[in-house]
Amino acid sequence: MGIACTFGFHNWSGCRCSKCGKTRDEGHNWSQDCERCSNCRTPRQNAHSWDGCKCSTCGKARDAEHNWSQNCERCAICGATRENPSKLNGCTCAICTVAAFMQAVSKGQLDVVRQFIEKGTDMNVKDENGKTALMYAIKSGHADTVRFFLKGGDMKVTDNYGINGSGSVVKNWYADIA
Ligand SMILES: [Zn+2]
Ligand SMILES: [Zn+2]
Ligand SMILES: [Zn+2]
Ligand SMILES: [Zn+2]
Ligand SMILES: [Zn+2]
Repeated sequence: MGIACTFGFHNWSGCRCSKCGKTRDEGHNWSQDCERCSNCRTPRQNAHSWDGCKCSTCGKARDAEHNWSQNCERCAICGATRENPSKLNGCTCAICTVAAFMQAVSKGQLDVVRQFIEKGTDMNVKDENGKTALMYAIKSGHADTVRFFLKGGDMKVTDNYGINGSGSVVKNWYADIA
């Protein structure tokens, strides 16, 4: 112990004296964990700033209010996985919506495809493997659907598709149906 500490002149670094190790009830560091000071281990209660399932201060997660809107199997905020995903049961998460959209494209159900787009699905959206609706339309061979995406879609996507090696397919289709 330094002589200064014996006279009460501690060298405070937050809640702890860096000379003698004495602690005080101020200057705690809650940034690592809202419930426990990372310097002196003093506990604290009800201090998290929950933003859904995650504390915006310390980053700790809780098993409540997860965000399944992007992926019904994986929380978009904390990455927690769900045991009973709503996949394929009319789920409206981003992944299931894209899957259902691609399914409608593959079946050539233009009315359904239009409904998706009216409800906000981007016609240039890509699935988990980077495939666009145009690719699905070409693969399934529904000329109306291919025409729909060639006219309305972002042609850069077709350029990208061409670079991937199937550009001639698009060009032949385009020549036939445009
Ligand atoms: Zn001290
Ligand atoms: Zn402390
Ligand atoms: Zn916290
Ligand atoms: Zn979560
Ligand atoms: Zn889903």
